[in-house]
Amino acid sequence: MEIETARELGFCLGVRRAIRLLERAAQKPGRIQTLGPVVHNQRVVADLAKKGITIINSLDQFQGDILAITAHGVSPEVMTEIQSRRFSLIDTTCPIVRRAQRIAKKLMEAGFWVIIFGEPDHPEVKGLLGWAGNKAIATLEVPEVSVINPLPRRLGIISQTTQSQSNFSHFVTKVVHLALPQIQEVHIINTLCDTTRNRQEVALELAKRSELVIVVGGRNSGNTRRLAEVCSAIVETYLVESAEELKTTWLTGKNRIGITAGASTPDRVIDEVILALKTLNPTSRLAYDRR
Ligand code: SF4
Repeated sequence: MEIETARELGFCLGVRRAIRLLERAAQKPGRIQTLGPVVHNQRVVADLAKKGITIINSLDQFQGDILAITAHGVSPEVMTEIQSRRFSLIDTTCPIVRRAQRIAKKLMEAGFWVIIFGEPDHPEVKGLLGWAGNKAIATLEVPEVSVINPLPRRLGIISQTTQSQSNFSHFVTKVVHLALPQIQEVHIINTLCDTTRNRQEVALELAKRSELVIVVGGRNSGNTRRLAEVCSAIVETYLVESAEELKTTWLTGKNRIGITAGASTPDRVIDEVILALKTLNPTSRLAYDRR
């Protein structure tokens, strides 16, 4: 059995940057609390907790010395609240999310109604909704666009950064088809993250070469779930959060196993999964690992 890892997998630049900023700050005095989990991965959260970095879910819970905004960013309302309370701040908002926020704001200021293709409850999307003002909705479902009634003359469409390019493209096509009889102008801006797109493309190629794909990452991580979606369209695919979840039965009759991992999955967890696969099948070998 051969094990091959995806050419690009695991921590993205935005997550690496956020963790680096927090770990550097943790070396200095002062208790750091993050507004929500830094990334959707329990191992990363547990590692940071060992360094004294804990999570709060609302500003009212803050009892630390330094507040950290996660890579997902926050709405301008939350930022104003933080400033009014004069909290010391570390802002780890990913630059790609920041760009999407700026675009949402520009569309709103130019008088566009903004549709965000994304999960309404995701922290990044909640932040984007704030930047897009009160004439904005976030959805993954085309029929929900009809809640905007009557449709505005000018419509802006952007995406949550970690959505897949093909899903965004299908959504845009359908929304334009639905809205075109009534609207004058549609402004579509690609706010997808290139890193996420590359990883999905690389995962797709890996899936085509594999008889089974293991996606390693948190089930609450949107980009990890989408990697699993992309691969499962091609080949038998399982999403695991840790090596303990692997099952021997998955490997029966499989000669080529592909491994990919979400942008919030640490190398350590990927290594543990590879090791566990080798233990389950002692004759297996790692055919490719770029890391
Ligand atoms: S997946 Fe992309 S947008 Fe999200 S934190 Fe990583 S680099 Fe930034």
